[in-house]
Amino acid sequence: MVANDRTCVGCRSADTKGSLVRVVRGPQGQIVPDPMGRLPGRGAYVHVRGDCMAAAVRGGLARAFRAPVELGADELAVAIEARLVVRRTGLLVAARRAGALAIGTDAVRDAIASRRVALLLVASDAAGRREELSAAVGRLGRACVEVGTKTELGALLGREEVGVVAVLDRGLAEAIASVSTDIAAASAARLAPRVDLGSRGRGADRARSGGRTPR
Ligand SMILES: [Zn+2]
Repeated sequence: MVANDRTCVGCRSADTKGSLVRVVRGPQGQIVPDPMGRLPGRGAYVHVRGDCMAAAVRGGLARAFRAPVELGADELAVAIEARLVVRRTGLLVAARRAGALAIGTDAVRDAIASRRVALLLVASDAAGRREELSAAVGRLGRACVEVGTKTELGALLGREEVGVVAVLDRGLAEAIASVSTDIAAASAARLAPRVDLGSRGRGADRARSGGRTPR
């Protein structure tokens, strides 16, 4: 384990800080995700993965905080996702202020032609040039990430609707792509059907832990 690594309270394996989300326990015992790592107090770290978040609420967080934690895996996933969306919004706003965004189809085309695109963001309901642009970005070896709807993306960028945006700064692109991966993972964990747990043998785990898992 490298000095800067942290241990996931779910799977208990060590990983880089950037691969884990920090959570803190508030004075009322509430669990608050802290992806920026800025909140005071004792922190625990968890992978944004369904298995790790489930194990965290089953006992990992309580062990780390030496206090009871009343929280379901879904609630943890929802809270983490919400905080990560705020974090991504902050990154997008910072990128816009830094002039590191090309907004709209024409500007994105220019950014692709001049090879300045580091990451392509597309709205989930963007039509038209979306396929063409993401294919062109892919040919440059750059990634494409879905970010909200046209209206949501527009609201972030001070326009009515925005379907496509190119991020031109490599560092900001990496940060936005990374947080987007975690948002998708949190969302998937939240939406995963409960029966999944039983079918993967979690029933036995639950029985061993004394059946404390709420029904
Ligand atoms: Zn883990």
